[in-house]
Amino acid sequence: MVGLGGAAFPTHVKLTRNAQKPIETLLINGCECEPYLTADYALMVRAAGAVVTGSLLGQRATGASEVVVCIEDNKPKAMEAIGRAAKGTGVRVQALKTKYPQGGERQLTVAVLGKEVPTGGLPLDIGAVVLNVGTAAALARAVVRGRPLTHRVVTVSGRGIREPRNVLAPIGASYRELVEFCGGMTEDAARVVAGGPMMGFTIGSLDVPVTKGTSGLTVLTREEVRRSEETACLRCGRCVDVCPLNLVATKIALAAKTENVEVAERYHISACVECGCCAYVCPASIPLVQLIRLGKVLRQRAQAAKGS
Ligand code: SF4
Ligand code: SF4
Repeated sequence: MVGLGGAAFPTHVKLTRNAQKPIETLLINGCECEPYLTADYALMVRAAGAVVTGSLLGQRATGASEVVVCIEDNKPKAMEAIGRAAKGTGVRVQALKTKYPQGGERQLTVAVLGKEVPTGGLPLDIGAVVLNVGTAAALARAVVRGRPLTHRVVTVSGRGIREPRNVLAPIGASYRELVEFCGGMTEDAARVVAGGPMMGFTIGSLDVPVTKGTSGLTVLTREEVRRSEETACLRCGRCVDVCPLNLVATKIALAAKTENVEVAERYHISACVECGCCAYVCPASIPLVQLIRLGKVLRQRAQAAKGS
């Protein structure tokens, strides 16, 4: 089993007790903040019992003294369903402000516990474990019914999809099959994104399999992807203002562009969660996130070269 929130981190690693780092709180992440994606929401409404059972199993494995299911406050039906399923179990539901990004592990620990995960660290370092709601439900199926992770909920959406919906998809089904199942694409469909429009990756072919980390498939129209030409940085500072981690995206991106790994590191490139906020607000249409991703690859290569 791996985390179904997107990062596909091995679940057994998160649930293995570490005597040096005891877990106080298990956070069950139901904050699905990217536009278009509603897979976690659908799961919370339709399989609340499985989410709560998996949460309790996670509590037993980690030894956490409290379990909190975190849900954004624009999802009252999900809060109601989980609250009903959790009655009498000790599992608590907490409403969080609806904002982007809210579902990142760092944002969640700050919002619920008032504690920040140190840069380069894990929630474990502050006594917390974060599991996605989908992971909790899959954990329940695995333990209670002995069923491996063969399916996951995938949101197939975007204005470029004729019949957007959440699909319980077999792992390994192709994106093409998902799109056909949802009525195909509209005539003005222009871009297919694996994931949501903010953090997803543009893909060039639909012959790509659904993996355990596939939370969504978003098809954007020509109108939605229309971008003005990239210009030089205006030094407006908007990318800095919106960054949830207070990073200076423009400096990191420039360092990546000029392949200066040292400068990128000095500006904490590894702390970037690739939320896309900086690129979204940039009036110069600079592809900040793509450059930051490039910088991370360069950094990994430099580290590997140092180690060899
Ligand atoms: S993508 Fe941009 S806004 Fe988001 S964390 Fe990275 S630098 Fe900050
Ligand atoms: S938002 Fe764009 S134009 Fe403004 S400082 Fe950042 S990179 Fe430069």
